[in-house]
Amino acid sequence: MNYIIKQIKSFVLYELVKGMSLTLRYFFKPKVTLNYPNEKGPLSPRFRGEHALRRYPNGEERCIACKLCEAVCPAQAITIEAEEKTDGSRRTTRYDIDMTKCIYCGLCQEACPVDAIVEGPNFEFATETRAELLYDKEKLLKNGDIWEKQISDNIKADRKFR
Ligand code: SF4
Ligand code: SF4
Repeated sequence: MNYIIKQIKSFVLYELVKGMSLTLRYFFKPKVTLNYPNEKGPLSPRFRGEHALRRYPNGEERCIACKLCEAVCPAQAITIEAEEKTDGSRRTTRYDIDMTKCIYCGLCQEACPVDAIVEGPNFEFATETRAELLYDKEKLLKNGDIWEKQISDNIKADRKFR
């Protein structure tokens, strides 16, 4: 009996028709795939992407060189050197992050008392060489300038859960 059913199915191209009907069913449904990089999916405000150093609206660096981020980093990816300015404030003279060591745990961001070092929303920072992933202060501040609007919106959106 099984043999006869198999033969009939084969004769009427049952498997092909079944496959085509499935294709036809999904043809009219909304697409679940994104045309990346032209289209991008939603990102959580807590997304931990590329690092950035932020400034205050007047352009002053937020970082006060307390080195908490350096101390807390489990990967020892952060290197900070600091000096006292003529006005008595402490500022970094060097702020490096070795992004090849970073495990994107977010502890540096959590430890920072002034929201200076953050992990921003950018996830498109693949490089061709390892050297390009050794970030210095200039690069981190530049990231902060580029992403400030989204970073501050994300911090505001997340504040009520803290
Ligand atoms: S995210 Fe974690 S591993 Fe990366 S620099 Fe910050 S503390 Fe270090
Ligand atoms: S980024 Fe924040 S935690 Fe790190 S040294 Fe500057 S102020 Fe301190």
